[in-house]
Amino acid sequence: MHIMSKEKSPNILPIAITVLGGVATHFALKLQKSSVVRKDLEARLTEATELATRDSLTNLYTRRALEERYQELQSAEKRQRATDAENQPTKSSLVLLDVDHFKRVNDTLGHDMGDEVLRNVANILRNEDLPTRLSPEDPDYAGRWGGEEMVLLVTNKTEEDAVKVAEDVRQRIESAGQVTASMGVVELDLSQSLENNIAMADQALYFAKHNGRNQIIPYSSLPPTSAT
Ligand code: GH3
Ligand code: MG
Ligand code: MG
Repeated sequence: MHIMSKEKSPNILPIAITVLGGVATHFALKLQKSSVVRKDLEARLTEATELATRDSLTNLYTRRALEERYQELQSAEKRQRATDAENQPTKSSLVLLDVDHFKRVNDTLGHDMGDEVLRNVANILRNEDLPTRLSPEDPDYAGRWGGEEMVLLVTNKTEEDAVKVAEDVRQRIESAGQVTASMGVVELDLSQSLENNIAMADQALYFAKHNGRNQIIPYSSLPPTSAT
């Protein structure tokens, strides 16, 4: 008996190892599979978020994404006020851009060419190499507000500095030789909604259009009766 049990034990061990190995492999595979599924879900979620935040024609941020960014700016301002009541919070600004006589582009060159022009304007607006925008820690947000209207949220810049950014954009669009653009610029009043700030920029834009287009008008320069 003693001898038999001695003979048995070396046989059980490899079996036990095989069984345990099998179980371990089974769970390892399950884990691996669940991590593959998780990664797949994560990738799909990223894709869905990108779809919701990016305009399909221009790849600029959507209105919704701009709203979110605007809310972040509002929260940042609140935090800054809470921690540093002595100093004025950093100012940010907004540029509202409208392509000049864009209807003519569609009418003369066709809708597809119109789309191409919009993509080109969007690429210029988003261009982070603009000399006036060299501030990687303060990324600007370029979005499509609708049709041929685009918005640039210029983070941590006063209206005066945002006008310089807008002037860079204007010159580059003009140099591309397809179209020109008019812009209204406003320093953000973060106590108001994004829509209200856009409405202010729109008043400035209206003046730019009526003053001959291909130019930038800051909201602060409007006569008091029109700046409401
Ligand atoms: P203004 O200088 O006063 O801004 O004149 P405009 O012709 O640009 O202004 P208007 O608002 O009359 O025309 C805008 C045109 O933009 C009309 C519309 O068909 C066109 N549009 C809007 N969205 C798109 C788009 O996604 N693709 C193309 N190709 N055209 C678009
Ligand atoms: Mg328009
Ligand atoms: Mg237009």
